[in-house]
Amino acid sequence: LQARLIAQEKMRALGELVAGIAHEIRNPLTAIKTFAELLPRKLNDERFRAQLVEHVPEEVARMNRIIEDLLDYSREKPLQRKRENLLEIVQSVQGLFAKRLESERIETKLDPTLDVDVLVDRDRIKQVLINLLLNASEAMAQQSADKQLTFRVLPGEARAVCLAISDTGPGMSEQDRLHLFQPFFTTKSQGIGLGLYLSQKIMHDHGGEITVQSTEGAGTTFYLHFAKGETGDEHLDH
Ligand code: ADP
Ligand code: MG
Repeated sequence: LQARLIAQEKMRALGELVAGIAHEIRNPLTAIKTFAELLPRKLNDERFRAQLVEHVPEEVARMNRIIEDLLDYSREKPLQRKRENLLEIVQSVQGLFAKRLESERIETKLDPTLDVDVLVDRDRIKQVLINLLLNASEAMAQQSADKQLTFRVLPGEARAVCLAISDTGPGMSEQDRLHLFQPFFTTKSQGIGLGLYLSQKIMHDHGGEITVQSTEGAGTTFYLHFAKGETGDEHLDH
């Protein structure tokens, strides 16, 4: 019964994703089609030509981003799990975005509690952290001061590790929080809405979980739940 429920849930999730893709691709296609249809009549209209040159590449680029995000995930090889140090992974992501963080005046804090091992596919977890970092930076973009991004590991559980990533952004409404992990849910005009969906998938592939806590006006914390990397690598390389 349990297996059947899981299979049903997977099919439902897949259906939702496919419907989302169809919808997201159809909008730019409709725009491009309209330009193509008007083209013979409006070829000499300078304003029309300017609009076409601006919007058609934009719509094509948007479709490309959707496809690339999805391929990024589906192209992946099976998980390559190894024992990895969380502090090192977070530091390498911080390094990748050092310039951006500095220019946006975001202060990152890496708590000493990060110095713990987990059993993960390093590249995949980096992808999750990159998504969370970009979201936090986008969330705090309107703020002029007090932009902080904190990484720490919560005390507790012996066989599990919970990494908390907190920002001092505007937080989100309860309504948004409910839809956060759905494919194509976005509140940004240029957003795609796949970042958190794919991050959740990656955490599930690890047998882990991603959760969120947010208060409007008081910031957001994402929690990544991992299994601790205390056993040898050799048994877990699959
Ligand atoms: P995208 O970034 O393309 O919008 P995501 O899946 O990465 O898609 O995020 C979905 C939505 O979740 C965002 O549009 C935003 O509304 C909300 N969100 C994600 N992270 C944060 C955060 N740190 N603070 C506030 N809102 C957030
Ligand atoms: Mg995002």
